[in-house]
Amino acid sequence: MARILITSAIPYINGIKHLGNLVGSQLPADLFARFNRAMGHEVMFICATDEHGTPAELAAAKAGKPVEAYCAEMHAVQAEIARGFRLSFDHFGRSSSQRNHRLTQHFAGKLAENGLIEEVSEKQVFSIDDNRFLPDRYITGTCPNCGYEAARGDQCENCTKQLDPTDLINPRSSISGSTNLEVRETKHLYLKQRALRDKLEAWIDSKKDWPILTTSIAKKWLNDGDGLQDRGITRDLYWGIPVRKRATSPGRGWRAKSSTSGSMPPSNTLPAPPNGPTPTVMTTPPGNAGGAPTRVRRT
Ligand SMILES: [Zn+2]
Repeated sequence: MARILITSAIPYINGIKHLGNLVGSQLPADLFARFNRAMGHEVMFICATDEHGTPAELAAAKAGKPVEAYCAEMHAVQAEIARGFRLSFDHFGRSSSQRNHRLTQHFAGKLAENGLIEEVSEKQVFSIDDNRFLPDRYITGTCPNCGYEAARGDQCENCTKQLDPTDLINPRSSISGSTNLEVRETKHLYLKQRALRDKLEAWIDSKKDWPILTTSIAKKWLNDGDGLQDRGITRDLYWGIPVRKRATSPGRGWRAKSSTSGSMPPSNTLPAPPNGPTPTVMTTPPGNAGGAPTRVRRT
């Protein structure tokens, strides 16, 4: 008997998910979990709502609720949907749980201890009409790589190139459509991914049992274009996980969000953070194991 941990991609908190979420990520993992249980293995199948980031803040502001209350409400809704579809999660948690916060801070601290975190001054786009910094995914413009005119500030959906919003040509706010934007300077923490490239490549090469598609996608990330690049992992954000610049530093907190989300600083429509605008980490450990357990019935 083997002990098998299964995590399906975690759904973002805002809105009711469409069937593609169920079919694309949760159902295959559910089938795999049921199969392994039927084979007599010990299975832990977990999922969670992905709660940090700008979309949650904007959705909560639109609903006229504090973001914490909005997320608690939507988590209950999504957990109920999972129950309704008889998904056999052993645990359906929340990325905003204290346990997940501690896990994220642990990972950020370990990365810092190993010299893999760097503070970088960078320029971010501020929308004057929206009166806020625009998170990457809320900026639209022309991709500098392929010319696609509706590329997002975090990634071009046409050529899949990862972008920074300041790379975009003719950028505009996805919230208001305003082109009244300016670039302002802010400081953030970066994960020094370039320093990990050779190690990662050796590790990927050692995996002889991986599907070719998996290996080729991983290699593409390492080698395409300029190769693997350092990446900003913090954002100016209220609704995130505070992390420190160094594991042992008594310095101010930095705030975190999920890796698939945009970000923004507090604005007049949002609760003020305790210590003013603070950057955020994008670390969401795969398959959140934290949170007040919302048990989903096993069938
Ligand atoms: Zn492109």
